[in-house]
Amino acid sequence: MSSVSGFPKLVIPATIAAGPGPGNTDERVLAAFANAGIADHMHGDVLRGMIECKHMLREIWGTQNVHTFGVAGTGWSGLDVMFSAVMPGDKVVMFTNGTFSGIDGLTVRMKAATAEELAADPLNPQPASVVTIDVPHGQSVTAEIVEAALAEHKPKWAAMAHWETGSGRINDIQGFSDACEKHDVMGLVDAVSSLGVENFSIDDYPGVAGWASCPQKGVCCLPLTYAPVSLTDGYMASLKASGTRTFVHHPIMEARHWGIIDGKDVEKGTYHRTHSAYAVAAFHEALRITLEQGLAARAAAYTRHEAALRAAVEAMGCEVTSNMTSLVVLNLPPSLAGREMELVQNCRARNFGIWPTLSAPVQVRIGILNLLTETAVTDIVLRFADAIRELGGTVDADTVSNVLNHHYQAELAAE
Ligand SMILES: *Cc1c(COP(=O)(O)O)cnc(C)c1O
Repeated sequence: MSSVSGFPKLVIPATIAAGPGPGNTDERVLAAFANAGIADHMHGDVLRGMIECKHMLREIWGTQNVHTFGVAGTGWSGLDVMFSAVMPGDKVVMFTNGTFSGIDGLTVRMKAATAEELAADPLNPQPASVVTIDVPHGQSVTAEIVEAALAEHKPKWAAMAHWETGSGRINDIQGFSDACEKHDVMGLVDAVSSLGVENFSIDDYPGVAGWASCPQKGVCCLPLTYAPVSLTDGYMASLKASGTRTFVHHPIMEARHWGIIDGKDVEKGTYHRTHSAYAVAAFHEALRITLEQGLAARAAAYTRHEAALRAAVEAMGCEVTSNMTSLVVLNLPPSLAGREMELVQNCRARNFGIWPTLSAPVQVRIGILNLLTETAVTDIVLRFADAIRELGGTVDADTVSNVLNHHYQAELAAE
């Protein structure tokens, strides 16, 4: 291949995306992206597509919130919109139990810091108004922890990850919502890993005022398309009163392009920034697929396949410490402890894309986003078994295949 520019054409291989995310984008989503015509951001079909996405999102989130739309970018873009109503000096209680809620905590501290507090430590401010309740890696945030902290601190806002992808833990959203309601706190939830994987309706959690997710995990769309957010009227009233110092991630302005103006649905969006016809087409198709499959059926499939994967890695002597259904977070057998990075790197070198944890302790994360078939899970299990053997570990192939067979056959029998 010629490289007149001095740079050969970039070729990125196909991999098995068996990590916590990004997941495997559905073929239909890729086709929608590649086959969209060249249309500007104010073309009638692009605007119509965005309005339809807004309505599909309300159905998928299970909400009547008018301010439900997509934020161009990744999960952090949606979270930045959701946290935009947190203003300097605001009292916030932040619950952290892993990498991602930890970063949410940093976001909150940057937004709640006064000018002086930010200048004192610009990349890691420690505002007096933010209390961080740090729950150890591998454990969940419980109703009791939230209740105790909100009763003591009585903040304006409280924030938590619904599913903490870093440690693979599900946090108690019911307990969080109940405590927020009881203490008149506005809850903010990072639902990046749960939307499209778990079957839940956000309107069942009235203590939560803001939700944010991402395109690339349970929604099965491309990164850098749209991060779903949903904000209650209570959230919007606070934002209207305080304002926020962002144009592009301003919830009121960002919502305009999705046909939400003055708190009401209008027929056509108005310009906020140049949206991509390709991204809108891909997102629209991903949401259609989610609705076609149905959240209940999808959630049940995740539960089934995670259980099979969990049983298989436990049969290899690994210890699983997670309870999410889109991935397992595990400790290697004791004889291989300390060699997690080496194992993950060996797998990734073969385009078998599993992940380590990104914050201590070092563990291995294997995900099944959009890999919900017996064939796909079996392939993951066999590759992981090979990686363990390569490091000198022992895996009894018969035991592992019996566990998988037993799991999937028991299921057939039950049907
Ligand atoms: C993946 C993830 C994020 C970040 O999403 P990006 O798409 O990488 O911006 C934030 N929070 C949680 C819980 C996540 O799992």
